[in-house]
Amino acid sequence: MSFTVAIVGRPNVGKSTLFNRLVGRRLALVDDQPGVTRDRREGDARLYELEFRAIDTAGLEDVTDDSLEARMRQQTERAIAEADLVLFVIDARAGVTPLDAHFADLLRRAAAKTLLIANKCEGKAAEAGLLDAYRLGLGEPLAFSAEHGLGLGDLHEVMRPYVPQGEEDAVELPAEPDAAEDDALEAERDYGPLQMAVVGRPNVGKSTLINRLVGEDRLLTGPEAGITRDSIELDWDFQGRPVRLVDTAGLRKRARVEDKVERLSAADTKRAIDFANVVVLLLDGAVGPNEAPLEKQDLTIARTVVDEGRALVIAVNKWDACGDRIGAMRLLRDRLERSLPQTKGVPIVAVSALEGRGLDKLLQAVFAAYEVWNVRLPTGQLNRWLEATTTQHPPPAPGGRRIRIKYVTQAKTRPPTFVVFCSQPKDLPDSYLRYLENALRQDFDLPGTPIRIFARAGE
Ligand code: GDP
Ligand code: GDP
Repeated sequence: MSFTVAIVGRPNVGKSTLFNRLVGRRLALVDDQPGVTRDRREGDARLYELEFRAIDTAGLEDVTDDSLEARMRQQTERAIAEADLVLFVIDARAGVTPLDAHFADLLRRAAAKTLLIANKCEGKAAEAGLLDAYRLGLGEPLAFSAEHGLGLGDLHEVMRPYVPQGEEDAVELPAEPDAAEDDALEAERDYGPLQMAVVGRPNVGKSTLINRLVGEDRLLTGPEAGITRDSIELDWDFQGRPVRLVDTAGLRKRARVEDKVERLSAADTKRAIDFANVVVLLLDGAVGPNEAPLEKQDLTIARTVVDEGRALVIAVNKWDACGDRIGAMRLLRDRLERSLPQTKGVPIVAVSALEGRGLDKLLQAVFAAYEVWNVRLPTGQLNRWLEATTTQHPPPAPGGRRIRIKYVTQAKTRPPTFVVFCSQPKDLPDSYLRYLENALRQDFDLPGTPIRIFARAGE
C-alpha cells in the first residue's frame, strides 16, 4: 500500500497544476477507471526523494448544476478518508473564501494530517491572502506557486516528516551532511537558476556590461514564449552556479530612437524587474567632483525594485571615468539612504564594463543578495529577537492600552516576509513596524532585500 496524498481545495486554486508538478511525466501512468475516478486523477508522485501516490480531486469545474457543492464535498471527503496526508490548496491571490473556510472545517476534523498550501504566491498580490490563511486554523500556510515551481523545497521540508522513506534514500544521503551546503543545494534545486536583470537609464552601459558578463560566444536561448517576444534569455554560470539574465536587446536598440527613450525604457525596466530575482541597477559613474552618480530616474527604478520585492544590487559603472571616486561613493550612499531608507546597506559595487573590472565582485554581490532574499529565519530565534527588541523600545499604548506583541514568524521568503501577532493590530503604527523592519535588517544582517512585515491579531 503506498502512502497517499490527497490534493484538495475549491476549483481553480491550482490543484491540478500542483498535481502535475508532483506527478510530472509519470502522468502517463495515471489510472483511468471510468466511473470510479471520473472526478479525480491519481498518479505516482515524487518530490525529491519522497515517493507517494497523489490524488487530485480537481475536475469538478465543469459541473454546473446545483449539486456541485454536494459532489465536491463528497469527492473531497472520500479523498480525505483515503489519504494519509492532505495538501489543502487555497488561492492566496483570491484570499480566503467561504468555501475555503468550509473545507478547512472538514479538514480540522479529519484523521489525516493537513498541510495548508497558499498557492499563486509568486507576486505581491498574494501577500494579504497568505496572511489571511492563518485564520483557517490549519497552522502556518506554505507560500507556494505551482505554476512557477516556487516553494517545492519548503513543501518537501514540511512533507518529509510524514512520508515514509525507502532504503535507497539512506544510501543517497552523505555521511556527514553539511547544513550550509545542503541549504545552498536545496535553494538551487528549488528555484533553478538565479534570475538576474540589469536595468538603468539609457547609456549607462547596460549593453556593454551584459556583453562583458555573458561573453559574445553565448548561446542565446529565445525568444522565449511566456516572457515577451522582445526578450532574450541568456543562461550562463558564475563559478559553477547557474545564472539566467533576461536581456531586452530589441528594446534597448529601439530605445536609441530619440523620442521614444523614456517610454520604452520604463516599460522595459518594469518587465525586467518582474522577471528577476535580483536586479542590478546600473548607474553612470562618469561624474565630476561633487556630483552624485544618482539621478531622479535612478531613484525611481530603485523604488520600483523595492516595491516589487526584488533583491537590489547597485553597480556604479564607468568607474574608469569617475572624477572623484571617494566623493562619488559617499554622495551616492547619503542620497540613497535619505531618499529611500529601505536601501540602507544595499550592496554597491564599482565596475567598469568597458575595461571588464569589478565584474566578479558584482556577481558575488548578486549571489549574496540572492541568499538574503531567500533567507529563512527560525521562529525560535526570531522570537528571542522580538523579546529583546520590544523590551528595548516597547510598542505604543494608544488610549492607555499598551499593544502587546505576542510572537513573530516568517511567513515566506523571496523577499523575507514576517507576521507579528499582537493585540490591537490596527492600532500598531507604521512607524513601529518600520522600527521592527530596521531592527530585523540590522540584527540579522539582511542588506539588499526588501523586508515585508505585517501585524495580525493573535493570542
Ligand atoms: P484546480 O481547479 O484547483 O485544479 O486548478 P488548476 O490547476 O486547473 O489551476 C487553475 C488556474 O490557476 C489555471 O489557470 C492555472 O494556470 C492557474 N494557476 C495554478 N497555479 C498557479 C500559480 O501558482 N500562480 C498563478 N498565478 N496561477 C496559477
Ligand atoms: P546602454 O544604453 O545602457 O545599453 O549603454 P551602452 O552599453 O550602449 O553604453 C553607452 C556608452 O557608454 C557607450 O559609448 C559605451 O562604450 C560607454 N561605456 C559603457 N561602459 C563603460 C565604462 O565602463 N566606462 C566608460 N568610460 N564608458 C563606458
